[in-house]
Amino acid sequence: MPSRPKDPAAPDGFATLDLDARVLSELAALGYEEPTPIQLAAIPPLMAGRDVLAQAATGTGKTAAFALPLLHRLNTGAPPRERTAALVLVPTRELAMQVAEAIHRYGKGLGAVALPIYGGASMETQIRALKRGVDVVIATPGRALDHIRRKTVHLAAVRTVVLDEADEMLDMGFAEDLEAILAATPAEKQVALFSATLAPRISAIAKTHQRDPEVIRIDREAVKPGRASKVMQVAYMVPRAHKMSALGRILDVEHPTSAIVFCRTRNEVDQLAETLNARGYRAEALHGGLSQDQRDRVMKRFRANTSDLLIATDVAARGLDVEHVSHVVNYDVPSAGDAYVHRIGRTGRAGRSGVAITLAEPREHRMLKNIERVTGQKIEVVPVPTVADLKARRLELAQAALREVILGGELDPYRAIVAALAEEFDVLDIAAAAVKQGAASEADAEAEEIPVAAPAREKHPARERAADRAERKAAKPAKPGRVVHAASGGAVTKLYVGGGRKLKIRPGDIVGAIANEMGVDGSVIGAIQIFDRHSIVEVSEAIADEVIAALSATTIKGKKLLVRPDRAGR
Ligand code: AMP
Repeated sequence: MPSRPKDPAAPDGFATLDLDARVLSELAALGYEEPTPIQLAAIPPLMAGRDVLAQAATGTGKTAAFALPLLHRLNTGAPPRERTAALVLVPTRELAMQVAEAIHRYGKGLGAVALPIYGGASMETQIRALKRGVDVVIATPGRALDHIRRKTVHLAAVRTVVLDEADEMLDMGFAEDLEAILAATPAEKQVALFSATLAPRISAIAKTHQRDPEVIRIDREAVKPGRASKVMQVAYMVPRAHKMSALGRILDVEHPTSAIVFCRTRNEVDQLAETLNARGYRAEALHGGLSQDQRDRVMKRFRANTSDLLIATDVAARGLDVEHVSHVVNYDVPSAGDAYVHRIGRTGRAGRSGVAITLAEPREHRMLKNIERVTGQKIEVVPVPTVADLKARRLELAQAALREVILGGELDPYRAIVAALAEEFDVLDIAAAAVKQGAASEADAEAEEIPVAAPAREKHPARERAADRAERKAAKPAKPGRVVHAASGGAVTKLYVGGGRKLKIRPGDIVGAIANEMGVDGSVIGAIQIFDRHSIVEVSEAIADEVIAALSATTIKGKKLLVRPDRAGR
């Protein structure tokens, strides 16, 4: 294999797999940090041209395991009839689309063209696309055979055939079609067979169509559950599109004192941190893209309890020395049983109770079963909390918080209000109204630190510091013309940041930079407007100078930007 230039931004774990630098940079752009076990096991033999017989379910990263090697055997410059170098057979239309999308993405830098062809879609459109030239055809067996019989697909140049979810294809009655398709491809070819089970009928196909395959089984060995046994384990089945909002709701109900949320990719980590911050959590992102210095700061804040949620990739969380967390959340089903055990071992320490929550897409059900099998423990599948559950839980939390406030005393200043209202209303009604007001405007309550939020006070030192400073400053006469009033009531100032849409800056990037550098949360930041070449950020006047210093010292989207008070705001 000729040596290729390595992309310095590429994730390290993939560097040993001898992948093309252009593929490596796509993986980096996707936020992949290291190969999954199936990828580590399958990529080297496939790159070497060997056949592979792999037992791996959806969710293990199996698509990249076969897709990355086949990208290195393409012939993108060939005329259309000789161009198709790989054929991937899949059981369903959905999978065909998904695999095509993945191959398109991984092979973008190589100019690879991937086409999904499946039944129920227009034959004409597929034929037109095939005529233009396709490197990888991803097909359901029935439709593939249709095209073969009509001679509208040309497989003479195929060097790799992948049977993905082979057991499913057999279950769906495609055995004969598979035979016919395989017979229509060149005798000299690499065959990769992926299946959730290695049942005898799969072995039979392997025997007929493979030559000395490398056999790979992931998760066969049971792992020692160890600490995991003290942890309550639950899973929520959530369709991909609803995962973010489901997680928000689950966290609202679970109310963790401190939690680590594990994601597969850097991009997911960043997105999730942004979303959860917007939801009022103090979430910090931790992934391999951060410098050691940034990581240390994130960890310091998490240990000091200035953040409630640590959103991390496995790589970044490895070797993390965290004493105890109340919850471990798997935003995706981990790609192997031991990764799961390792992750959830971070909760339930020292005899304390812990909760492990896993969000699984319906199609990842089998992965979940796999994990149950290797850990020998049951993971209870529970429904996502409803809005009604959430409301009930909020009231419960409000009740607990009130109880603490009452026991804490120092209520005299408020008694006067109650006494005044009691002349007009029933005391129970007054109390109920106070609770309603607190529960209805939770976000406002936090920002304004009304007594209901009192138990959370120790958990929010940074926020309080910023709020205190804002209060002190706000008490001084503000400079005329610079002041606008924020929802929080403090004085705010507008800052000019010398970058905007053209640099793909989003509000979350600015909030993230301020939060990261200063250890404060989003509540000290007001409206953010992004223009083509600049952005305007409103911050509490009290901390404006600090924000300018902090943003000037860091980078946003990898660039140092000019940050100064906005002249138009004066
Ligand atoms: P699959 O098992 O192929 O359906 O992949 C499951 C998910 O894992 C997909 O969303 C992939 O994008 C993602 N994925 C695959 N490989 C990796 C990796 N090495 N690191 C992070 N995510 C990955």
